[in-house]
Amino acid sequence: MDRIAVFPGSFNPFTIGHRSIVERALPLFDRIIIALGFNESKSSATGMAERDRRVEVIRNVFIGEPKIEVESYSGLTVDFARSHGASFILRGVRDVSDFEAERKLADINREISGIETVLLVALPELGYVSSSMVRELGNNGYDVSPYLP
Ligand code: ADP
Repeated sequence: MDRIAVFPGSFNPFTIGHRSIVERALPLFDRIIIALGFNESKSSATGMAERDRRVEVIRNVFIGEPKIEVESYSGLTVDFARSHGASFILRGVRDVSDFEAERKLADINREISGIETVLLVALPELGYVSSSMVRELGNNGYDVSPYLP
C-alpha cells in the first residue's frame, strides 16, 4: 500500500521553509500531496484566480518530481486526506508555539479520522522564515526573493 501524505497549509506565499519540509519528507512517503487550503465562503472570482495562481507557483517548484502533487481544497484537512487515500498529514514545527498548535491539530485529527500527523522540525537556518514575515517585507517594498523557492 502506498504511503501517502498530505502537506496542508495556506502557503501565502510558499516559502523556502515549506520547500525544505517537503524535500526532507520525500524519503518517508511514496506520494506527497501539497494541499493549499482556502475558505470557500470567502471565495470570489479574484480569490479563485489567486488560489489557482498559487497552486501553479508551487507546481513549478516541484516540476519533474513525480512523487509530488499540488491541489487546493476547502473544508477539513482530514476529509481531503481521506478522499485522496492519504494516511498521514505532514507539518513543520519551528518553535514551541508551532508545537502547541500542531499538537492540538494532530490530536483532534487523529481522534476524528485515525490519520496520524508527522512533524518535521524546521532546519535551524530556516526556523525564522514565515509567510507572514515575507508578506510584511513584500508589502513594504523589500526584496523577498531570498525567501521564495
Ligand atoms: P497554516 O496556515 O496551515 O499554518 P502555513 O502555510 O503557514 O499554513 O504553514 C504550513 C506548514 O508549514 C505548517 O506546519 C508550518 O508550521 C510549516 N512551516 C512554515 N514555515 C516553516 C519553516 N520555515 N520551516 C519549517 N516549517 C515551516
